[in-house]
Amino acid sequence: MTDRQTEGSRGALRTWRRLMGFHRPRALVFAVTIVFMVLAAVFNGLSLAAIVPFTEIVLRAGLPESASTASATDSTHLAEADAASPQDADVPSAQRPSASLAELRAQAEQQFYRLIRGRDRIDTLLRFCIALMLIFLLKNIFWYAQSFLSVYIEQTAVRDIRNRLFASYQSLSLDYYQGHHSGVLVSRVTNDAELVRGAVANGMMELLRHLFALLTYLGFAIFANPDLFLWALLILSPSLFVIDRIGLVLRRISRISQEKMARVTSVIGETVRGIRIIKAFGVENHQLRRFMRETGDTCRTLVRMTRIGSLGLPLTEMLGASVAALFIYIAGRKVITSGAHPGYFLLFLAAFLSMIRPIKAIHQLNLRIQHGLAAGRRIFDVLDARPTVRAAPDPVPCQTFRDALRFEGVWFEYERDTPVLRDVHLTIPQGRILALVGPSGGGKSTLINLIPRFYDPTRGRILLDGHPLPMLDLAGLRRLIGIVTQETILFQDTVAGNIRIGRPDASDADVRAAAQAANAQEFIERLPEGYETVIGERGLRLSGGERQRLTIARAVLKNPPLLILDEATSALDTESERLVQDAVRRLIAGRTAVVIAHRLSTIRSAGTIVAMAEGRIVEQGTHSELLARDGLYRRLHTLQFAEPSA
Ligand code: ADP
Repeated sequence: MTDRQTEGSRGALRTWRRLMGFHRPRALVFAVTIVFMVLAAVFNGLSLAAIVPFTEIVLRAGLPESASTASATDSTHLAEADAASPQDADVPSAQRPSASLAELRAQAEQQFYRLIRGRDRIDTLLRFCIALMLIFLLKNIFWYAQSFLSVYIEQTAVRDIRNRLFASYQSLSLDYYQGHHSGVLVSRVTNDAELVRGAVANGMMELLRHLFALLTYLGFAIFANPDLFLWALLILSPSLFVIDRIGLVLRRISRISQEKMARVTSVIGETVRGIRIIKAFGVENHQLRRFMRETGDTCRTLVRMTRIGSLGLPLTEMLGASVAALFIYIAGRKVITSGAHPGYFLLFLAAFLSMIRPIKAIHQLNLRIQHGLAAGRRIFDVLDARPTVRAAPDPVPCQTFRDALRFEGVWFEYERDTPVLRDVHLTIPQGRILALVGPSGGGKSTLINLIPRFYDPTRGRILLDGHPLPMLDLAGLRRLIGIVTQETILFQDTVAGNIRIGRPDASDADVRAAAQAANAQEFIERLPEGYETVIGERGLRLSGGERQRLTIARAVLKNPPLLILDEATSALDTESERLVQDAVRRLIAGRTAVVIAHRLSTIRSAGTIVAMAEGRIVEQGTHSELLARDGLYRRLHTLQFAEPSA
C-alpha cells in the first residue's frame, strides 16, 4: 500500500469513528438493537435447520423411539456419515467432521426431538409444524424490533448532524459565507447528511445485519457438513473470480455503449443547432456521412462487445450448474453409500446458497459507505470550521454607548492584497448623524460592516468608548446596534413577528408604535389579518416600499443606541418614496447613526458628511463646508443628489 492509501484509509477510519460518535447518546438502544439483530439472525438460521428434523420425520423412518435412546440412535446415524469419510477418497481426510461436531449435532437433535416427539409420526409432524411457526414468529419479532430501532438510531443521528450543521452555520463569521456558495451549504445539510445516513447509520446497520446473517449461515453450513463446506470453497473460489471478471466486462460494455451514444447525439445536436449554416453552406451530405460514421462505429463496437458479453449469462449458469452437480455427486454419494443423513445435506445447501445474498449486499454496501464517508468528511469540514470573529476570552461587558466610535488606521481586504479600505481614520461621536457618500465600490458598505464585527479589520482598530471591539462581548455589542440594510430581509412569520425580531418581548402597543413611526401602520392595517398576516418568502408579498418601512419599524422597535442604515437605492414611486424618507428621517433624528446616504434629504439631516472613494476618506465636513470646497462631494452633489424633491 502506498503512503497516500494508508493516509486515506486512516482518514476514512477517523471520519467513520467521528460519525459513529453521533450514535453515542443512544448507545444503549444501539446495543439492544445489536442483540435483536443477532437473535433475528440466529432464529433465521434455526428456521433453515428445521430441514433436518423435517427429513427425519417425513422422509426417513420418523424420530428415534424414545428420548432415552435418542442420543444413542442419533449418534449412530451420525456416526454412519462420519464413518463413511475415511473410505471416501474424494474428501480430504484431515477435514473430516470432528467427533465433537457430531456430538453437538446429536445434542441439538436430541433437545429438539424431546420437544416435538408426539404419539406417532403424524402427531410429531404436527408438533414440528407448530415449533416451526414459533421459530418464525420469534425470528420476525426480533427482525421487526431491530429494524424499527435501526431506523430510530439512523434518523436521530441524522437529525443531530443537521442540527449541529445549522448551529455551526449560524456561528460562523461572514468570511465563511464569502468562500462558500449557499447551494453548497444547503447541500451539506440535505444531501450530505442523507448520504451519511445511508452509509454510517443505515449502511452500518445493514452491514451488521448482513454480517450476522452471513455468520449464522456460515455456522450452519459448517455445522451441517464441514467437508462439503471446504469442497465448496475450493470449487467456488475460481468460479467466483470468473463471475467477477464477467461482471467487469459487462460494466465496460455498458460504459462504452453510453460513450458511443453520446457521440451520436452530439452530432444530432450540432446539426440541429447549426441547421442554417449547414443549409447555407450546403454541407448536408458531409454531416450525414459524419453521422453514419458514428452510428456505424457504435453498431460495430456493440456487436463485437456483445459477442463477448453475451457469454456472461450462459457461462455463469454453466459454472453454477457444474458446481451444483459436483456437490450433488459428492454429497449424494455419501448419502447413498453410507446412508448419511440427507437432512444435513439439504441444510448445507440451503445455508450455503443463502450466503450469496449477504455477500452480494456487503459488496454493494462498500460503495455506499465510501460515498457516505466522503460526505462525512465534508460535514466535518463545516463542523470543524471556527468563526474568525470571536470575542476575547474574558470580554468586557458591553451595555451602553456613551462617547464615540473611533476608526484608527483601519485597513480591510476581502481577498489578500486587494485593500478595500485604506487607512481609515474616523470618529463617530455619540448623538451625531454621519452620512457616507461616494461612488459605488468606494468601500462604504465595507466600512459599516466592520462596526457590528461582521468582519474584523485587517489592520488598525475600531474602538467603542475606548475599548477595542474584539475586547467587548460580541452579543452585547450587537445589541447596541440596529441595522437597516438595502436588502429588506423578511422572515416567514407574521408582520408583528417580523417587527419584533430585535425585541421578542415587545408588547403589541410597542409594535404598533414602531409601525406608526415607520409610516407602516396604515398599510399593515389594510392587510387581510393586520399584524397577524403571514409574510415572507411563502407568505403575502409586499411592495418594495412596504418592505422597507417594515425593516425601519424593526429598527425603531429595537431602539438601539447606534444605528446603521444603508439607504435603499431602488426606485420607488413618489408616494412610497415620501413615506420611506419620512420614516428614515424620524428614525435617525436625535440618534447616533451612520448612514450610507443616497438621498439629499438624509444628507441634509446629517451633522457630518464623509465622502469615500477607493477605500479612502476623501473629504469630511458639513454639507455647506463640503459644497464650498469644490471637491468630490460637490461633484457628487451636482450629479447624484440634485433631486428636485429636496
Ligand atoms: P460601496 O458600498 O461604497 O459601494 P463596497 O464596500 O460594497 O463599496 O465595496 C468596496 C469594494 O470591495 C468593491 O471593489 C467591491 O467589489 C469589493 N467587495 C465588496 N464586497 C466584497 C466581497 N464580499 N468580497 C470581495 N470583494 C468585495
